[in-house]
Amino acid sequence: MIEAHTQIPPAGAETVVLRHFVDGACWEGTGTETQPVFNPATGQLIAHALRGTPADVDKAVAAAKAALPGWRQRTPKDRADALLRAAAMLEANAEELAHLESVNTGKPIPLAREDVAGTIDTLQFMAGAVRTQLSLSAGEYVAGHTSMIVREPVGVVAAITPWNYPLLTAAWKIAPILAVGNTCVLKPSDQTPLTALRTAELLAEVFPPGVLNVVTGAGSVVGEALATHPDVALVSVTGSVRSGQAVASAAATTLKRVHLELGGKAPVIVFADADLDAVAEGIRFAGFGNSGQDCGAACRILVEQSVHDELLKRLVLQVESLVVGDPADGDHIEMGPLVSKTHRDSVLGFLDRAIAEGARAATGGKAPEGDGYFVLPTVLVDLPDGAEATREEIFGPVVTVETFTDEDAVVEAANRTAYGLSASVWTEDARRAADLPGRLDFGTVWVNDHLAFATEMPWGGFKSSGYGRDLSTYALDDYSRTKHVMFNHARRADEREQT
Ligand code: NAD
Repeated sequence: MIEAHTQIPPAGAETVVLRHFVDGACWEGTGTETQPVFNPATGQLIAHALRGTPADVDKAVAAAKAALPGWRQRTPKDRADALLRAAAMLEANAEELAHLESVNTGKPIPLAREDVAGTIDTLQFMAGAVRTQLSLSAGEYVAGHTSMIVREPVGVVAAITPWNYPLLTAAWKIAPILAVGNTCVLKPSDQTPLTALRTAELLAEVFPPGVLNVVTGAGSVVGEALATHPDVALVSVTGSVRSGQAVASAAATTLKRVHLELGGKAPVIVFADADLDAVAEGIRFAGFGNSGQDCGAACRILVEQSVHDELLKRLVLQVESLVVGDPADGDHIEMGPLVSKTHRDSVLGFLDRAIAEGARAATGGKAPEGDGYFVLPTVLVDLPDGAEATREEIFGPVVTVETFTDEDAVVEAANRTAYGLSASVWTEDARRAADLPGRLDFGTVWVNDHLAFATEMPWGGFKSSGYGRDLSTYALDDYSRTKHVMFNHARRADEREQT
């Protein structure tokens, strides 16, 4: 049964079917299939979402296309005002959004609150930044001709988002996409559609119909239809490498632009002179926050041999102090479950194979008893060179610890991965702190920190981690296009003869 009056399920109302949001209103769609949505901390069904169809995508793209002329011709100030009103609307509903995010993803409430705060900040930043955008130059580069460069929106943009930060990754796309004058069709992960749908519903009071649309459903259907749609100018994906490849190759059929924020496997390089307490605390936060389901997670520790034992001792103490449980138990919960049973089983598979390869769990290494899709926070040691767990993105509460004795060798080992999203270096040595970031092939390199973000600074990867930048004014560039306009103002021949 499709509920007509509400989009968001009250607790225990598992029969609620969440509808798409198209052209300023909730919409039943054209399909008949639905997808169950679970609370991963308990395994309980919390709602159903519609499995969108290509016809649903057609309708949403048509709405976005129809809204485009009105939205793009607004001044930057007008669009910025709307983004600021959107930020205020989300701020007024922040607790509801944080609880929805927590119940759908299993993330602790304080972390969900941070995601909402980051969402609001991104909207506010893009509102301000878009008003400061200037064209590069205006000048006479051909005699009698004045050239100017204008930036304009690309058109209808498709935004495809993952389940680990459903609201935040959507905001990192929606804010710059709308700020520069595009309209948007958002496809959230089929596992975590709650906050995207609720946000669109809340912002119906702020954005004109069609400016922001949400279609739920499978990547292989809704995502694919967006990536191949002739009226979509650009498709922006945050997700796994495999999905990025699928979207890039589908988008090639219409040669649309692609923006890819994909997976990561962040090395954490720890020199003997580092503050080991800070390292252990940093990994506690950056390796296990969001249950390690973070593309930038501090998951691959490379520690100088001479301090391996000391770091491991402090790290295990830190990790064993994490409070793991159902986020609904209260704000003291620091680590929740993994997002789904399938994903929990995938992480356990990595652990089994690592142990079979000769690794040992210094702590954790298994799922605890009880309901929900939990895995204990785990530190793997004694890994053979090139072990799968040190190469592949596990995307769970698992860090591996390897050792090194030589600076050049550790740089080489850190770069020996297909991913290029983020890395960190921990040292008190000024030369190394200045030198290593330039030698590491990652889009973000932290020194003596990990997973610290600034909305003003770009986020994005190299190599298999994709291309395109979220956050900062670079995102505004990514979602707009440059145009050269040239005015011929040379006087006519008869005018020249008169002088
Ligand atoms: P996923 O790739 O399974 O799904 C991401 C999105 O892509 C979903 O909405 C999915 O439905 C869609 N999708 C899947 N196949 C598609 C296809 N063929 N065509 C179009 N869309 C398709 O990723 P996930 O499991 O939801 O998220 C985890 C992954 O996301 C990890 O690899 C993680 O590293 C990555 N991630 C990256 C960043 C970043 O900023 N670089 C941020 C968060 C997550």
